[in-house]
This record gives sequence, C-alpha cells and structure tokens, in this order.
Amino acid sequence: MTASRDTSRPLPDPAALARLKETVGPAGFLDLPGDTDPFLTSFGGTFRGEAALVLRPASTGEVARAVAICAEARIPMVPQGGNTGLAGGAQPDRSGSSVLISLDRMRRVRAVDRHNDTLTLEAGVTLADAQAEAERIDRLFPLSLASEGSCRIGGNLATNAGGTQVLRYGNMRALTLGLEVVLPDGRIWDGLRALRKDNAGYDLKQVFIGSEGTLGIITAAVLRLFPRPRAVATAMAAIPDVPAAIRLLGLARERLGEHLSAFELMRASSLDHAIAAVPGLASPFSSRHAWYLLVEASGQEAGNTLGTALEAVLEAGLEDGLVADAVIAASHEQRQRLWKLREAQAEAQKHAGRGVKHDISVPVSVIPDFIARADAALTAAFPGIEPFTFGHVGDGNLHYNPIVPADWSDGEWRQKSAEINRLVHDVVAEFGGSISAEHGLGQLRASEAERYKSAVELDLMRTLKQVLDPLGLMNPGKVLRDIPRE
Ligand SMILES: Cc1cc2nc3c(=O)[nH]c(=O)nc-3n(C[C@H](O)[C@H](O)[C@H](O)COP(=O)(O)OP(=O)(O)OC[C@H]3O[C@@H](n4cnc5c(N)ncnc54)[C@H](O)[C@@H]3O)c2cc1C
Repeated sequence: MTASRDTSRPLPDPAALARLKETVGPAGFLDLPGDTDPFLTSFGGTFRGEAALVLRPASTGEVARAVAICAEARIPMVPQGGNTGLAGGAQPDRSGSSVLISLDRMRRVRAVDRHNDTLTLEAGVTLADAQAEAERIDRLFPLSLASEGSCRIGGNLATNAGGTQVLRYGNMRALTLGLEVVLPDGRIWDGLRALRKDNAGYDLKQVFIGSEGTLGIITAAVLRLFPRPRAVATAMAAIPDVPAAIRLLGLARERLGEHLSAFELMRASSLDHAIAAVPGLASPFSSRHAWYLLVEASGQEAGNTLGTALEAVLEAGLEDGLVADAVIAASHEQRQRLWKLREAQAEAQKHAGRGVKHDISVPVSVIPDFIARADAALTAAFPGIEPFTFGHVGDGNLHYNPIVPADWSDGEWRQKSAEINRLVHDVVAEFGGSISAEHGLGQLRASEAERYKSAVELDLMRTLKQVLDPLGLMNPGKVLRDIPRE
C-alpha cells in the first residue's frame, strides 16, 4: 500500500534527529526507506505510516534519553514491539513528524527466580522466547497466541494480550507482577516488583498495561510462572447449536474445575474453509455439524485421569443432547491436528473471501443471543453475507467476521464495512459487551469507541492521558483521538 505524506504537521528539527542518532549509536537507528518500511507497515499491510526515523535503543537508559530528547523537541513517538498488532497501534500517522521507537533490540533476560516463580524480561523478548525461558526451568508461561514467534512481551503488555489460555490463567494483566516504564518526559518508573501482594498505594502497572503505548514505553516486566502441566487432554466436539456450547461449558467447569484450559468455538463454515485452505487438514467427523468446540484440560495428574474426566464431560453432553459427536486426541500428533483446525482460522478466512473483522466480547451467558441477533440483523440488511465466527467462547470473546458477497466492489466494501461494524457493535453494546476484547483500539477503533463509552469514562481516560502525557506526544491518535498539544 502506498501513502502520500500528510503535510499538516511539521517535520522534526534535524538537530534533534541528529542528537537521537548519537544517543543510540549507529546500530540503533534506521533512516533509509528500504530499512524502515517493515516497521512502518502493519501485519497484513492494512496500516501504513511515515516516520522521520526508526530508533532501536538497546537499553532502558537509551530509551529514556531518546524520549527526553523527543519531549524537548516536541517530536511524537510511536512505540513498537513485534508489529503483529491488528489495530494499527504501532504505525505512525502519515505526516512523517514522528519517531518510531522499536524495542526489538532489548532482549535480555534480567532474572529467573524458580522459587518465586517469576521471570524478569526486557520488552523486546519474543513471546516464544519467554515461553522457552520458562520451560528451561520446568515452568510454564501460559500466554499463547498464534503470533507468538514474532510478538514481543512489551507489545503483549501494551495490548493486554489474551489468546487461548485466558480461561485458566487470565490475560497479560493477570500474568504480570511488575513493570519498568519510561514516562513521556523521559523519567524511568522502576516498578519491577516481584510481589504477589502489594497494597502500598495505587496499582500503577495496570495503568500502563493495555494502554497501547499512549502513556509510556514499557521496557521490562516481571512475569508470573506456573507449574508445567504433565498431562493434557484435548477433544473436539460437534454440537447442534450455540446454546449447547454454553451449557457444555458450564458442565466442563463443574467437572474439570481449574483444569479446563481452553474452550474454543467454530462455525461449520469456518471449519470447511480451514480444510479447503490448508492442505492436509481434515474434519475428525464423518458428517458435517452446525458448530464445533475445541476443549482442552491440563494438569499435574498421573496417567489418563484428565482424559477420563474429559470423556465423562463429553458423555454427559451426549446424554443431554448437547453433543452430537466427539473425538478425544489419542496422541500428541492427533492433538496438534485438532489445534491446527482452530489455528488455521486466519487462512480459512482468507479462503472464504473478504471479511469485516470484529473482536468482541459479551458476557458468556448471552453469547447465543448475541450470535442469533447479529446474524439475523446482518443477513436482513446485507443479503448474501456469510457469517464467519470463531473465538475464545470460554472468555466470551468472539472473532465475528462476516464474509461479504464476492461481487461487492472495493468502494461498496469500504462503505458497507463501516455500516456492518456499526450494526455489529450496536448489538454488542445492547448486550453490555466490548468492541475490543483483546486486540485494543489502536487507530482502528479509537473513534468508534467514543460511541460506546460514557462521557464520564471518556473524560477519565482523557484526564489520565493529559496528566501522564501533557504534550500529547506518546502514540498520538491511538486509543483516544488526538488531543491538542500544549
Ligand atoms: C496471526 C495472529 C494471531 C493473533 N492472535 C491473537 C490472540 O489470540 N490474542 C491477542 O490478544 N492478540 C492476538 N494477535 C494480535 C497481536 O499479536 C497482539 O496484540 C500482540 O500482543 C501484539 O504484540 P506486538 O509485540 O506485535 O506489538 P505491536 O504490534 O508492535 O504493538 C501493539 C501496540 O502496543 C504498543 N507497544 C508495543 N510495544 C510497546 C512497549 N514496549 N511499550 C509501550 N507500548 C508498546 C504499540 O505502540 C501498539 O499500540 C494476533 C495477531 C496475529 C497476527
């Protein structure tokens, strides 16, 4: 995608840019278009911005010095981790007035504490490396996303990432004990405490987690570790309808308790497209069903205790008419094959056609009503639209991404996408839900969120932004629409 520069904002003072380069040294910046391009374009190419410079500091001190220079010279800053975000949060605007600050060179493991079950990492460590570091001491860092090879801990924190294990372990907020943050004026807040109990004042780390780089730059974190499960039992269940999924979830919670670690929903058409899109994938069932669930339990139990418990849940579901058919993975390879059907949903979506994406959450109990209401409203308003749904139903989070008719022109698609967003988000709001469950608002949904948040909530958010970033230089235009600078 090409972008012409928006000339409404002034380009940074060349002397300030020279000081920034000096601060990080020759290995710490990029300023040639061929080098900066991958940082300026989002995953999938949806968002593209311009920057005067890409900085790649190697330490917290370098980040702090660079931020202080930017604050003094009034240069907007855009933090970036692995650039896998789906809301355009890590892309600058098109003015070229910003400096992009990538944390990708800050990859040190600062501390590993086996007895405290904590890992202290710099923000540029990839999620996959964080998981591997935990595994080295026979522990689990449970955050798990399809982008884990590329996304980085700082980005996971800034987006409060979720993924497939939230049901059991919580999202990034729940997995974090401490943070180190460079504030928008260049001061360093050292909140790297490895404490499970700390009521000495406000819990400041939670202000920065999920703030999408708009309040400061996260440079390091203390993360919680867990025992590594010795046993995992995985099943796929074919179910007649969505209410059956919610009733089966209740049953699974009652019987499996905290061992229930994943509960993922897919529509029949989503599974069909995954099988058509990815060679080697196949349905584990001999006939087609309306909906499917991927259910997983994990724990320390010896033998096949978990497998037996999961089987009992599915049998009870069969007796109650909640389950039409089910398979339990008998080997690691079979487990991987079942997961691949869920993980292939992005490819499935591309195969299905052009979709309009939503990352919504509603209370788990109203998921069936939400899907029924949104499906009916969409098909009435846009004949030929194909519902496409998958997601972390155990957390009330759905990727509700209807596929538009193939004959829509680009212009039609752009205009109607906005109408589809509005229709779906209005139904979400009716059910007390959120228009961003795990991907954040970024630039994608910053203005849309104004429709659904109360005046009081927006006022509190703007006040917080004003207090921490009075010059409005930290990732402007993300989460909240741009506010005037002093
Ligand atoms: C295939 C695929 C699957 C995905 N699956 C999931 C999923 O299941 N669950 C989920 O939650 N997300 C998912 N995502 C979205 C994405 O991977 C997550 O949002 C991830 O946490 C982003 O991390 P990142 O390092 O790539 O951040 P980036 O994309 O670089 O940045 C994201 C935001 O965080 C800010 N930021 C980055 N680093 C810092 C920092 N150090 N300090 C302050 N701000 C910072 C940026 O400014 C931006 O606003 C998926 C993405 C892809 C491509």
